[in-house]
Amino acid sequence: MPSEKKVRVRIAPSPTGSFHIGNARTALFNWLFARAHNGDFLLRIEDTDKERSQKKFEGDILYGLKWLGLDWDEFYRQSDRVEIHRDYLGKLLESSKAYYCFCSKDELEEQRQVMLAQGLAPKYSGKCRSLPPDEALRRVGEGAPHVIRLKVPDTKVAFQDIVRGRIEFDGALMGDIVIAKEGGEPLYNFAVTVDDALLGITHIIRGEDHISNTPRQIFIMQALGFDIPQFAHLPMILNPDRSKISKRYNSVALTDYIKQGYVREALFNFLALIGWHPKGDEEVMSIQELIKEFDLKKVQKGGAVFSQEKLDWFNAHYIKEMDGRQLLALAEEFVPKRWKLNEAMMDAIRGRASRLDELENLLKFYFELPDYPVDLLKWKEMNFGQVELNLNKMKDAINGLEPRSRRDVIEKKLLEAVGNGKRGETLWPLRVALSGQENSPGPFEIIEALGEKESIRRINLALHKLEIPETF
Ligand code: GLU
Repeated sequence: MPSEKKVRVRIAPSPTGSFHIGNARTALFNWLFARAHNGDFLLRIEDTDKERSQKKFEGDILYGLKWLGLDWDEFYRQSDRVEIHRDYLGKLLESSKAYYCFCSKDELEEQRQVMLAQGLAPKYSGKCRSLPPDEALRRVGEGAPHVIRLKVPDTKVAFQDIVRGRIEFDGALMGDIVIAKEGGEPLYNFAVTVDDALLGITHIIRGEDHISNTPRQIFIMQALGFDIPQFAHLPMILNPDRSKISKRYNSVALTDYIKQGYVREALFNFLALIGWHPKGDEEVMSIQELIKEFDLKKVQKGGAVFSQEKLDWFNAHYIKEMDGRQLLALAEEFVPKRWKLNEAMMDAIRGRASRLDELENLLKFYFELPDYPVDLLKWKEMNFGQVELNLNKMKDAINGLEPRSRRDVIEKKLLEAVGNGKRGETLWPLRVALSGQENSPGPFEIIEALGEKESIRRINLALHKLEIPETF
Protein backbone atom coordinates (compact mmCIF):
# COMPACT_ATOMS: atom_id res chain seq x y z
CA MET A 1 0.00 0.00 0.00
CA PRO A 2 1.43 3.39 -0.89
CA SER A 3 1.74 5.57 2.18
CA GLU A 4 -0.85 8.35 2.29
CA LYS A 5 0.46 11.86 1.87
CA LYS A 6 0.28 13.99 4.99
CA VAL A 7 -2.76 16.24 4.83
CA ARG A 8 -1.86 19.90 4.31
CA VAL A 9 -4.52 22.55 4.01
CA ARG A 10 -4.43 26.29 3.94
CA ILE A 11 -6.52 29.38 4.10
CA ALA A 12 -5.56 32.33 1.95
CA PRO A 13 -7.53 35.31 3.22
CA SER A 14 -7.05 38.66 1.53
CA PRO A 15 -6.41 41.55 3.92
CA THR A 16 -8.77 43.83 2.05
CA GLY A 17 -11.46 44.08 4.72
CA SER A 18 -12.37 42.91 8.23
CA PHE A 19 -12.19 39.17 8.82
CA HIS A 20 -15.47 37.99 7.32
CA ILE A 21 -17.66 35.45 9.09
CA GLY A 22 -17.61 33.35 5.88
CA ASN A 23 -13.83 33.28 5.91
CA ALA A 24 -13.93 32.34 9.58
CA ARG A 25 -16.14 29.36 8.70
CA THR A 26 -13.78 28.36 5.85
CA ALA A 27 -10.85 28.62 8.27
CA LEU A 28 -12.67 26.53 10.83
CA PHE A 29 -13.48 23.73 8.36
CA ASN A 30 -9.89 23.66 7.15
CA TRP A 31 -8.62 23.57 10.72
CA LEU A 32 -11.02 20.79 11.76
CA PHE A 33 -10.03 18.77 8.70
CA ALA A 34 -6.33 19.23 9.41
CA ARG A 35 -6.66 18.36 13.09
CA ALA A 36 -8.86 15.35 12.33
CA HIS A 37 -6.17 13.96 9.99
CA ASN A 38 -3.10 14.96 11.99
CA GLY A 39 -2.31 17.28 9.15
CA ASP A 40 -1.00 20.81 8.85
CA PHE A 41 -3.05 23.97 8.75
CA LEU A 42 -1.31 26.83 6.93
CA LEU A 43 -2.13 30.50 6.93
CA ARG A 44 -1.17 32.43 3.85
CA ILE A 45 -2.07 36.09 3.75
CA GLU A 46 -2.99 36.84 0.18
CA ASP A 47 -1.84 40.42 -0.10
CA THR A 48 -0.97 40.54 -3.79
CA ASP A 49 -3.54 43.25 -4.42
CA LYS A 50 -1.38 46.11 -3.20
CA GLU A 51 -3.96 48.83 -3.57
CA ARG A 52 -6.59 47.14 -1.46
CA SER A 53 -4.46 45.22 1.06
CA GLN A 54 -3.93 46.86 4.43
CA LYS A 55 -1.89 45.88 7.46
CA LYS A 56 -4.77 46.63 9.81
CA PHE A 57 -6.92 44.02 8.04
CA GLU A 58 -4.12 41.48 8.30
CA GLY A 59 -4.11 42.24 12.03
CA ASP A 60 -7.87 41.70 12.13
CA ILE A 61 -7.54 38.29 10.45
CA LEU A 62 -4.82 37.15 12.86
CA TYR A 63 -6.80 38.41 15.83
CA GLY A 64 -9.96 36.60 14.67
CA LEU A 65 -8.15 33.31 14.07
CA LYS A 66 -6.42 33.46 17.44
CA TRP A 67 -9.65 34.38 19.18
CA LEU A 68 -11.35 31.34 17.67
CA GLY A 69 -8.36 29.21 18.67
CA LEU A 70 -7.50 28.23 15.10
CA ASP A 71 -3.76 27.90 15.53
CA TRP A 72 -1.75 27.60 12.34
CA ASP A 73 1.33 25.47 11.78
CA GLU A 74 2.98 27.65 9.16
CA PHE A 75 2.60 31.27 8.16
CA TYR A 76 3.24 32.90 4.78
CA ARG A 77 2.65 36.23 3.19
CA GLN A 78 2.08 35.99 -0.53
CA SER A 79 3.88 39.26 -1.23
CA ASP A 80 7.09 37.74 0.19
CA ARG A 81 6.93 35.12 -2.53
CA VAL A 82 6.67 37.30 -5.61
CA GLU A 83 10.13 36.31 -6.84
CA ILE A 84 9.14 32.66 -6.74
CA HIS A 85 6.00 33.44 -8.74
CA ARG A 86 8.08 35.35 -11.28
CA ASP A 87 10.45 32.40 -11.68
CA TYR A 88 7.54 30.15 -12.52
CA LEU A 89 6.15 32.70 -14.95
CA GLY A 90 9.57 32.65 -16.62
CA LYS A 91 9.41 28.86 -16.92
CA LEU A 92 6.03 29.02 -18.64
CA LEU A 93 7.25 31.68 -21.08
CA GLU A 94 10.41 29.70 -21.87
CA SER A 95 8.46 26.55 -22.58
CA SER A 96 5.97 28.57 -24.71
CA LYS A 97 3.07 27.59 -22.47
CA ALA A 98 2.47 31.27 -21.82
CA TYR A 99 3.03 34.30 -24.00
CA TYR A 100 3.14 38.08 -23.96
CA CYS A 101 0.00 39.82 -25.09
CA PHE A 102 0.07 43.41 -26.35
CA CYS A 103 -3.60 43.88 -27.15
CA SER A 104 -4.85 47.21 -25.87
CA LYS A 105 -8.09 47.65 -23.94
CA ASP A 106 -9.76 49.05 -27.05
CA GLU A 107 -8.64 46.14 -29.16
CA LEU A 108 -9.92 43.66 -26.60
CA GLU A 109 -13.26 45.43 -26.53
CA GLU A 110 -13.42 45.30 -30.31
CA GLN A 111 -12.68 41.54 -30.30
CA ARG A 112 -15.42 41.12 -27.70
CA GLN A 113 -17.98 42.96 -29.78
CA VAL A 114 -17.15 40.88 -32.88
CA MET A 115 -17.72 37.66 -30.95
CA LEU A 116 -20.94 38.89 -29.43
CA ALA A 117 -22.16 39.90 -32.88
CA GLN A 118 -21.45 36.35 -34.05
CA GLY A 119 -23.50 35.02 -31.19
CA LEU A 120 -20.42 33.61 -29.43
CA ALA A 121 -19.54 33.76 -25.74
CA PRO A 122 -16.77 36.36 -25.58
CA LYS A 123 -13.24 35.23 -24.82
CA TYR A 124 -9.76 36.38 -25.78
CA SER A 125 -9.28 35.88 -29.52
CA GLY A 126 -5.77 34.45 -29.19
CA LYS A 127 -4.33 37.16 -31.41
CA CYS A 128 -0.89 37.39 -29.71
CA ARG A 129 -0.53 33.63 -29.28
CA SER A 130 1.20 33.28 -32.60
CA LEU A 131 3.64 36.18 -32.27
CA PRO A 132 7.19 34.86 -32.73
CA PRO A 133 8.85 34.83 -29.29
CA ASP A 134 11.77 36.98 -30.53
CA GLU A 135 9.45 39.68 -31.68
CA ALA A 136 7.48 39.58 -28.45
CA LEU A 137 10.68 39.88 -26.42
CA ARG A 138 11.85 42.76 -28.55
CA ARG A 139 8.58 44.63 -27.95
CA VAL A 140 8.77 43.97 -24.23
CA GLY A 141 12.36 45.30 -24.33
CA GLU A 142 11.11 48.44 -26.03
CA GLY A 143 8.67 48.98 -23.21
CA ALA A 144 5.45 48.07 -25.05
CA PRO A 145 2.58 47.63 -22.53
CA HIS A 146 1.73 43.95 -22.14
CA VAL A 147 0.26 41.22 -19.96
CA ILE A 148 1.11 37.50 -19.84
CA ARG A 149 -1.45 34.91 -20.89
CA LEU A 150 -1.58 31.18 -20.39
CA LYS A 151 -2.21 29.03 -23.46
CA VAL A 152 -5.42 27.39 -22.32
CA PRO A 153 -5.95 24.13 -24.23
CA ASP A 154 -9.18 23.56 -26.15
CA THR A 155 -9.97 20.61 -23.93
CA LYS A 156 -12.31 19.93 -21.09
CA VAL A 157 -11.07 19.86 -17.55
CA ALA A 158 -12.87 18.01 -14.77
CA PHE A 159 -12.31 17.55 -11.08
CA GLN A 160 -13.99 15.51 -8.40
CA ASP A 161 -15.17 17.96 -5.77
CA ILE A 162 -15.43 16.31 -2.35
CA VAL A 163 -18.64 18.22 -1.61
CA ARG A 164 -20.21 18.62 -5.02
CA GLY A 165 -19.07 15.62 -7.03
CA ARG A 166 -17.74 15.84 -10.58
CA ILE A 167 -17.44 19.33 -12.02
CA GLU A 168 -16.43 19.93 -15.62
CA PHE A 169 -15.39 23.08 -17.48
CA ASP A 170 -14.51 23.58 -21.10
CA GLY A 171 -11.18 25.23 -21.83
CA ALA A 172 -12.43 26.06 -25.31
CA LEU A 173 -14.92 28.50 -23.78
CA MET A 174 -12.41 30.07 -21.48
CA GLY A 175 -9.83 31.54 -23.81
CA ASP A 176 -6.26 32.30 -22.82
CA ILE A 177 -6.38 33.73 -19.33
CA VAL A 178 -4.20 36.56 -18.05
CA ILE A 179 -1.79 35.26 -15.41
CA ALA A 180 0.37 38.36 -14.95
CA LYS A 181 -0.31 42.04 -15.19
CA GLU A 182 1.79 44.77 -16.72
CA GLY A 183 5.31 44.60 -15.30
CA GLY A 184 5.10 40.83 -14.88
CA GLU A 185 3.15 41.08 -11.66
CA PRO A 186 1.54 37.66 -11.11
CA LEU A 187 -2.23 37.61 -10.67
CA TYR A 188 -4.33 35.76 -8.10
CA ASN A 189 -4.90 32.51 -9.97
CA PHE A 190 -1.26 32.14 -10.81
CA ALA A 191 0.21 33.06 -7.42
CA VAL A 192 -2.25 30.80 -5.59
CA THR A 193 -1.45 27.86 -7.84
CA VAL A 194 2.30 28.16 -7.45
CA ASP A 195 2.04 28.62 -3.70
CA ASP A 196 -0.38 25.74 -3.20
CA ALA A 197 1.85 23.42 -5.20
CA LEU A 198 5.15 24.44 -3.62
CA LEU A 199 3.69 24.35 -0.12
CA GLY A 200 2.44 20.82 -0.75
CA ILE A 201 -1.25 21.57 -0.25
CA THR A 202 -3.21 18.33 -0.55
CA HIS A 203 -6.77 19.67 -0.18
CA ILE A 204 -8.10 23.06 -1.21
CA ILE A 205 -11.14 23.79 0.92
CA ARG A 206 -12.74 27.14 0.15
CA GLY A 207 -16.03 28.88 -0.60
CA GLU A 208 -18.01 27.90 -3.67
CA ASP A 209 -17.56 31.45 -4.98
CA HIS A 210 -14.14 30.14 -6.10
CA ILE A 211 -15.46 27.26 -8.22
CA SER A 212 -14.88 29.12 -11.46
CA ASN A 213 -11.25 29.76 -10.48
CA THR A 214 -10.59 26.07 -10.06
CA PRO A 215 -10.40 25.07 -13.76
CA ARG A 216 -8.11 28.04 -14.38
CA GLN A 217 -5.85 26.91 -11.58
CA ILE A 218 -5.89 23.33 -12.83
CA PHE A 219 -4.80 24.47 -16.31
CA ILE A 220 -1.93 26.37 -14.69
CA MET A 221 -0.99 23.32 -12.62
CA GLN A 222 -1.00 21.16 -15.72
CA ALA A 223 1.18 23.62 -17.59
CA LEU A 224 3.69 23.62 -14.72
CA GLY A 225 3.54 19.86 -14.24
CA PHE A 226 2.23 20.11 -10.68
CA ASP A 227 0.15 17.44 -8.94
CA ILE A 228 -3.54 18.33 -8.79
CA PRO A 229 -4.78 18.52 -5.19
CA GLN A 230 -8.28 17.61 -4.08
CA PHE A 231 -10.94 20.28 -3.96
CA ALA A 232 -13.88 20.91 -1.66
CA HIS A 233 -16.06 23.95 -2.29
CA LEU A 234 -18.14 24.94 0.70
CA PRO A 235 -21.70 26.24 0.41
CA MET A 236 -22.26 29.94 0.87
CA ILE A 237 -23.63 31.33 4.10
CA LEU A 238 -27.03 32.86 3.41
CA ASN A 239 -29.28 35.58 4.79
CA PRO A 240 -32.75 34.49 5.94
CA ASP A 241 -34.10 35.36 2.46
CA ARG A 242 -31.48 32.97 1.03
CA SER A 243 -29.40 35.71 -0.59
CA LYS A 244 -25.66 35.66 0.09
CA ILE A 245 -24.92 36.79 3.64
CA SER A 246 -24.73 40.56 3.80
CA LYS A 247 -24.70 43.43 6.21
CA ARG A 248 -28.36 44.04 5.48
CA TYR A 249 -29.39 41.24 7.84
CA ASN A 250 -26.36 40.28 9.86
CA SER A 251 -22.99 41.56 10.86
CA VAL A 252 -20.42 40.02 8.57
CA ALA A 253 -17.27 40.90 10.50
CA LEU A 254 -16.18 38.39 13.12
CA THR A 255 -15.06 41.24 15.40
CA ASP A 256 -18.63 42.57 15.54
CA TYR A 257 -19.71 39.29 17.11
CA ILE A 258 -16.82 39.42 19.54
CA LYS A 259 -17.75 42.97 20.53
CA GLN A 260 -21.38 42.01 21.04
CA GLY A 261 -20.32 39.41 23.55
CA TYR A 262 -20.51 36.11 21.76
CA VAL A 263 -18.17 33.65 23.39
CA ARG A 264 -15.63 31.57 21.56
CA GLU A 265 -17.19 28.18 22.30
CA ALA A 266 -20.57 29.33 20.97
CA LEU A 267 -19.28 30.86 17.74
CA PHE A 268 -17.03 27.87 17.17
CA ASN A 269 -19.84 25.38 17.60
CA PHE A 270 -22.26 27.52 15.57
CA LEU A 271 -19.88 28.08 12.64
CA ALA A 272 -19.01 24.38 12.50
CA LEU A 273 -22.70 23.65 11.86
CA ILE A 274 -23.11 26.06 8.97
CA GLY A 275 -23.22 23.69 6.04
CA TRP A 276 -22.24 20.59 7.98
CA HIS A 277 -24.07 18.36 10.43
CA PRO A 278 -22.85 15.56 12.67
CA LYS A 279 -24.29 12.07 12.34
CA GLY A 280 -26.41 12.24 15.47
CA ASP A 281 -28.92 14.82 16.65
CA GLU A 282 -26.74 16.36 19.32
CA GLU A 283 -25.59 19.77 18.17
CA VAL A 284 -23.84 21.03 21.28
CA MET A 285 -20.32 19.76 20.68
CA SER A 286 -16.97 20.48 22.22
CA ILE A 287 -14.01 21.25 19.99
CA GLN A 288 -12.63 17.75 20.57
CA GLU A 289 -15.95 16.21 19.57
CA LEU A 290 -16.09 18.37 16.46
CA ILE A 291 -12.61 17.27 15.44
CA LYS A 292 -13.61 13.65 15.92
CA GLU A 293 -16.89 13.89 14.02
CA PHE A 294 -16.02 16.35 11.27
CA ASP A 295 -16.32 14.86 7.81
CA LEU A 296 -15.86 16.87 4.65
CA LYS A 297 -17.92 14.36 2.71
CA LYS A 298 -20.92 15.26 4.82
CA VAL A 299 -20.77 18.95 3.97
CA GLN A 300 -24.01 19.94 2.26
CA LYS A 301 -24.18 21.35 -1.25
CA GLY A 302 -26.90 23.91 -0.76
CA GLY A 303 -26.34 27.22 0.98
CA ALA A 304 -26.81 27.37 4.72
CA VAL A 305 -28.86 30.08 6.38
CA PHE A 306 -27.22 32.03 9.18
CA SER A 307 -29.64 31.72 12.10
CA GLN A 308 -29.23 34.47 14.66
CA GLU A 309 -31.58 32.67 17.08
CA LYS A 310 -29.46 29.56 16.93
CA LEU A 311 -26.30 31.53 17.61
CA ASP A 312 -27.98 33.26 20.57
CA TRP A 313 -29.13 29.93 21.89
CA PHE A 314 -25.61 28.48 21.72
CA ASN A 315 -24.23 31.58 23.36
CA ALA A 316 -26.68 31.50 26.29
CA HIS A 317 -25.92 27.80 26.67
CA TYR A 318 -22.15 28.24 26.82
CA ILE A 319 -22.37 31.24 29.15
CA LYS A 320 -24.47 29.16 31.53
CA GLU A 321 -21.97 26.30 31.37
CA MET A 322 -18.91 28.43 32.04
CA ASP A 323 -17.20 28.30 35.40
CA GLY A 324 -17.41 31.49 37.47
CA ARG A 325 -13.78 32.44 37.03
CA GLN A 326 -13.89 32.09 33.26
CA LEU A 327 -17.05 34.16 33.00
CA LEU A 328 -15.63 36.77 35.35
CA ALA A 329 -12.55 37.21 33.16
CA LEU A 330 -14.72 37.68 30.06
CA ALA A 331 -17.16 39.99 31.84
CA GLU A 332 -14.47 42.47 32.80
CA GLU A 333 -14.28 43.65 29.17
CA PHE A 334 -17.97 44.47 29.18
CA VAL A 335 -18.51 46.39 32.43
CA PRO A 336 -17.12 49.66 33.84
CA LYS A 337 -13.53 49.29 35.00
CA ARG A 338 -14.33 50.50 38.53
CA TRP A 339 -16.69 47.59 39.21
CA LYS A 340 -15.10 44.92 41.36
CA LEU A 341 -16.71 41.73 40.20
CA ASN A 342 -16.59 38.45 42.06
CA GLU A 343 -17.46 34.91 41.09
CA ALA A 344 -20.59 34.80 43.23
CA MET A 345 -21.99 37.75 41.27
CA MET A 346 -21.44 35.88 38.06
CA ASP A 347 -22.92 32.65 39.40
CA ALA A 348 -26.09 34.46 40.36
CA ILE A 349 -26.77 35.99 36.93
CA ARG A 350 -25.19 33.53 34.48
CA GLY A 351 -28.49 31.91 33.52
CA ARG A 352 -29.97 35.25 32.51
CA ALA A 353 -27.46 36.40 29.89
CA SER A 354 -27.51 35.37 26.26
CA ARG A 355 -24.68 37.78 25.36
CA LEU A 356 -21.85 39.28 27.35
CA ASP A 357 -22.97 42.79 26.42
CA GLU A 358 -26.08 42.19 28.54
CA LEU A 359 -23.93 41.71 31.63
CA GLU A 360 -23.59 45.38 32.48
CA ASN A 361 -27.35 45.68 32.90
CA LEU A 362 -27.65 42.43 34.78
CA LEU A 363 -24.79 43.24 37.16
CA LYS A 364 -25.54 46.90 37.71
CA PHE A 365 -27.67 46.45 40.86
CA TYR A 366 -24.67 45.06 42.72
CA PHE A 367 -22.92 48.41 42.33
CA GLU A 368 -25.77 50.88 42.24
CA LEU A 369 -28.88 49.98 44.21
CA PRO A 370 -31.80 51.12 42.06
CA ASP A 371 -34.34 53.44 43.67
CA TYR A 372 -37.52 51.40 44.11
CA PRO A 373 -40.99 52.21 45.41
CA VAL A 374 -41.54 51.16 49.02
CA ASP A 375 -44.61 49.16 47.96
CA LEU A 376 -42.37 46.77 46.09
CA LEU A 377 -41.19 45.47 49.48
CA LYS A 378 -44.62 44.01 50.16
CA TRP A 379 -45.39 40.47 49.18
CA LYS A 380 -49.07 40.20 48.25
CA GLU A 381 -51.33 41.42 51.07
CA MET A 382 -48.63 42.15 53.63
CA ASN A 383 -48.62 45.37 55.59
CA PHE A 384 -45.54 47.48 56.24
CA GLY A 385 -45.41 46.39 59.88
CA GLN A 386 -44.93 42.76 58.80
CA VAL A 387 -42.33 43.78 56.24
CA GLU A 388 -40.36 45.60 58.90
CA LEU A 389 -40.57 42.68 61.30
CA ASN A 390 -39.41 40.18 58.71
CA LEU A 391 -36.59 42.36 57.42
CA ASN A 392 -35.32 42.78 60.97
CA LYS A 393 -35.44 39.04 61.45
CA MET A 394 -33.29 38.57 58.35
CA LYS A 395 -30.93 41.31 59.39
CA ASP A 396 -30.31 39.57 62.72
CA ALA A 397 -29.72 36.28 60.94
CA ILE A 398 -27.22 37.88 58.57
CA ASN A 399 -25.49 39.54 61.48
CA GLY A 400 -25.03 36.10 62.96
CA LEU A 401 -23.23 34.76 59.90
CA GLU A 402 -19.50 34.22 59.65
CA PRO A 403 -18.05 36.84 57.28
CA ARG A 404 -17.93 35.69 53.65
CA SER A 405 -20.29 32.80 54.15
CA ARG A 406 -21.13 30.64 51.16
CA ARG A 407 -24.57 30.50 49.68
CA ASP A 408 -25.60 27.15 51.13
CA VAL A 409 -24.67 28.27 54.65
CA ILE A 410 -26.52 31.56 54.17
CA GLU A 411 -29.57 29.72 52.93
CA LYS A 412 -29.56 27.30 55.85
CA LYS A 413 -29.22 30.01 58.50
CA LEU A 414 -31.78 32.33 56.98
CA LEU A 415 -34.35 29.60 56.46
CA GLU A 416 -33.88 28.58 60.09
CA ALA A 417 -34.67 32.15 61.04
CA VAL A 418 -37.80 32.11 58.86
CA GLY A 419 -38.86 29.05 60.84
CA ASN A 420 -42.52 28.26 60.37
CA GLY A 421 -43.31 31.67 58.94
CA LYS A 422 -44.37 32.05 55.29
CA ARG A 423 -41.25 32.08 53.16
CA GLY A 424 -42.58 34.47 50.54
CA GLU A 425 -43.37 37.07 53.17
CA THR A 426 -39.79 37.07 54.38
CA LEU A 427 -37.75 36.30 51.30
CA TRP A 428 -39.55 38.65 48.91
CA PRO A 429 -38.95 41.80 51.01
CA LEU A 430 -35.40 40.66 51.61
CA ARG A 431 -34.71 40.13 47.93
CA VAL A 432 -36.22 43.49 46.97
CA ALA A 433 -34.23 45.25 49.71
CA LEU A 434 -31.04 43.66 48.39
CA SER A 435 -31.63 44.14 44.67
CA GLY A 436 -34.02 47.07 44.40
CA GLN A 437 -35.68 45.12 41.56
CA GLU A 438 -38.84 43.17 40.93
CA ASN A 439 -36.85 40.48 39.17
CA SER A 440 -33.40 39.46 40.29
CA PRO A 441 -31.39 36.48 41.45
CA GLY A 442 -32.44 34.94 44.77
CA PRO A 443 -31.58 36.60 48.09
CA PHE A 444 -29.03 34.01 49.27
CA GLU A 445 -27.03 34.36 46.09
CA ILE A 446 -27.11 38.14 46.35
CA ILE A 447 -25.92 38.08 49.97
CA GLU A 448 -23.01 35.86 49.00
CA ALA A 449 -22.15 38.22 46.13
CA LEU A 450 -22.53 41.46 48.08
CA GLY A 451 -21.11 40.27 51.39
CA GLU A 452 -22.80 40.63 54.78
CA LYS A 453 -21.88 44.26 55.33
CA GLU A 454 -23.36 45.65 52.13
CA SER A 455 -26.40 43.39 52.56
CA ILE A 456 -27.08 44.85 56.00
CA ARG A 457 -26.62 48.35 54.64
CA ARG A 458 -29.25 47.70 51.96
CA ILE A 459 -31.67 46.22 54.49
CA ASN A 460 -31.22 49.33 56.64
CA LEU A 461 -32.06 51.47 53.63
CA ALA A 462 -35.26 49.49 53.16
CA LEU A 463 -36.13 49.88 56.84
CA HIS A 464 -35.52 53.57 56.51
CA LYS A 465 -37.86 53.71 53.51
CA LEU A 466 -40.54 52.02 55.62
CA GLU A 467 -40.39 54.76 58.24
CA ILE A 468 -41.61 57.27 55.69
CA PRO A 469 -43.87 55.23 53.38
CA GLU A 470 -44.72 57.00 50.15
CA THR A 471 -48.18 55.45 50.04
CA PHE A 472 -51.15 56.78 51.96
N1 GLU B 1 -8.03 35.11 -1.23
C1 GLU B 1 -9.18 34.30 -1.46
C2 GLU B 1 -10.30 34.76 -0.57
O1 GLU B 1 -10.05 35.43 0.41
C3 GLU B 1 -8.90 32.86 -1.14
C4 GLU B 1 -8.70 32.09 -2.32
C5 GLU B 1 -8.43 30.62 -2.12
O2 GLU B 1 -8.75 30.08 -1.05
O3 GLU B 1 -7.90 30.07 -3.05
O4 GLU B 1 -11.43 34.46 -0.85
